[in-house]
Amino acid sequence: TEACLNAIEGAGALNAFVHHTPEIALERATAADARITAGDAPAMCGIPLGIKDLFCTQGVASQAASRILDGFRPEYESTVSAQLRDAGAVMLGKLNMDEFAMGSSNETSVYGNVVNPWKVDARDLTPGGSSGGSAAAVAADLCLAATGTDTGGSIRQPAAFTGTVGIKPTYGRCSRWGVVAFASSLDQAGPMTKTVRDAAIMLEAMCGHDAKDSTSADLPVPDFEAMLTGDIRGQKIGIPREYHMDGMSAEIAELWGKGADMLRDAGAEIVDISLPHTKYALPAYYVIAPAEASSNLARYDGVRYGHRATLGPGDGITQMYEKTRAEGFGLEVQRRVMIGTYVLSAGFYDAYYNRARKVRTLIKRDFEEVFATGVDAILTPATPSAAFGLGEMAAADPVEMYLNDVFTVTVNLAGLPGVALPAGLDSKGLPLGLQLIGRPWEEGALLNTAHVLE
Ligand code: GLN
Repeated sequence: TEACLNAIEGAGALNAFVHHTPEIALERATAADARITAGDAPAMCGIPLGIKDLFCTQGVASQAASRILDGFRPEYESTVSAQLRDAGAVMLGKLNMDEFAMGSSNETSVYGNVVNPWKVDARDLTPGGSSGGSAAAVAADLCLAATGTDTGGSIRQPAAFTGTVGIKPTYGRCSRWGVVAFASSLDQAGPMTKTVRDAAIMLEAMCGHDAKDSTSADLPVPDFEAMLTGDIRGQKIGIPREYHMDGMSAEIAELWGKGADMLRDAGAEIVDISLPHTKYALPAYYVIAPAEASSNLARYDGVRYGHRATLGPGDGITQMYEKTRAEGFGLEVQRRVMIGTYVLSAGFYDAYYNRARKVRTLIKRDFEEVFATGVDAILTPATPSAAFGLGEMAAADPVEMYLNDVFTVTVNLAGLPGVALPAGLDSKGLPLGLQLIGRPWEEGALLNTAHVLE
């Protein structure tokens, strides 16, 4: 813990940690030492972690990287961070992210962008987003692991951009209670780590049934680490032809092929599969996620907590809402609230929101049909490119940024588990990631397959 706290001190330029909690860290580390001495130490005991700013942490600033939650210190702890705490893990502080987890580059944060510890010719790159602080902190050895959340790729894309491992579990595996809501039918928490084994250990501590989240699954939590046997003989791994996008870089295509070869060498059968509705996933996601966000973010009204605008003479409650929300939300969040409100409005609900929900069902069915043929997991690239330069994907064209999520959003729409892991380096020396998508509730088998690729 002390080594991590020192490393964090020295790495301010990365802007990964935005709220530092050294007193809490040292207190928990001391308690963990005592548990270890007493012989009562679960696997996470004494492990120094970073916690994404989206998780509510009792008495500690939890702002979702937004001005609108300025000064908010929750009275309660999110279920996931409470489970980690109770397993003896040590919170070092809160990690930077895109505002309300909306973004793919960590550039929408009120705290400013995060810098990827990986560089090309000393040029600063994005660590990805929205869990950019988590990924950068793990990659730069500021913590042993971090929590992330993933609504459309926010664990997997930053993991791919920083050469780390990240798993989005099956929807319902981890409680969403106390995690600031973005799009409730898509949001999942998950671990971001250096290795697949670490991800297995941390995931076990994070998941489990929680009566406080009605979508939390009442299923036993397996010993994921014990499932990392490395034996994948006889498994069927699908390669979806629709993920061979036009213009995919040769380097990514080559690493994808190498990944398939490694799995074949380990005794898996590689099969060509089709997920025909893939091309509708991004448009469906960028209707459903903003729709849910516009509803979830309606609670930030300047009345109960966070930022409230200074009012002028004659300003009433309407002006208070308007001014507070105009000042408190950044441009990307405002854009999503407007899109979401539009697609949910009476005149356009059927044309956009309902249609997107139908497309979502078709995407889910694509996966179900493939799994019904005996396919155990699906191998794809995690992202269409390696980490890009800060400011390079300008806010001028938000759609360009949205295209980053082309390989990851399908997994959230279908509620499936997906893991991203390092696949190798590109010609500039930057990490590239592969993604494995699994059957619902089979995170253990999925991590085992990922372990073979490490
Ligand atoms: N980049 C996607 C978005 O901006 C995904 C974000 C996420 O998974 N939280 O919506």
